[in-house]
Amino acid sequence: MNIILLGPPGAGKGTQAQRLVEERGMVQLSTGDMLREARTSGTEMGNKVAAIMDAGELVTDEIVIGLIDEKIRSGNTAGFIFDGFPRTLAQADALNELLSRNGAQLDAVIQLDVDDAALVDRIVGRAKEAVAAGGEARKDDNEESLKVRLMEYYKKTAPLIGYYYARGDLKVVDGMAAPDEVAQGISAALA
Ligand code: ADP
Repeated sequence: MNIILLGPPGAGKGTQAQRLVEERGMVQLSTGDMLREARTSGTEMGNKVAAIMDAGELVTDEIVIGLIDEKIRSGNTAGFIFDGFPRTLAQADALNELLSRNGAQLDAVIQLDVDDAALVDRIVGRAKEAVAAGGEARKDDNEESLKVRLMEYYKKTAPLIGYYYARGDLKVVDGMAAPDEVAQGISAALA
């Protein structure tokens, strides 16, 4: 089974993806994680990616599609959870193509439905927790980048809700509930 977790920054996509990995042995493909890894490479591409991410803007379709292509080719039997991808209609089209080229298909798109005001609190909270735990907050977890990330989401990613609804793939899950309840909502949607 191959599924997409769709929702704005702070909706809980990473948390829920992690649970699906533990419970079902699925493979999480987070383009955010892949890009954070790429930026540590010190290459020219890595530095370019770092500046875009810190500003809260989207990295080019070409780069992220390339990253996903590589992972899909490696295949797996339990299925992929796409987390943070696709984020544009061009990426959604590319995903269909990459899956079908590998004899696979998309089974469901889970939209984590959340209230905008809560996102800012969640992300600022996440940054504070990271610092309190002695770590470092993500460079883009500040109010300024967050505003850009939300704007990018509404301009470029939210149209995917309509796209997947029209294809009959969309399942809406309340993302405002506690993580366990959200996980139950996802399980019910996938049953
Ligand atoms: P969040 O969903 O919390 O904003 P992610 O970890 O998914 O965070 O993404 C962090 C950043 O990585 C994004 O703001 C963007 O710059 C970049 N990014 C991640 N996935 C994509 C994608 N599919 N297309 C373009 N840029 C992406």
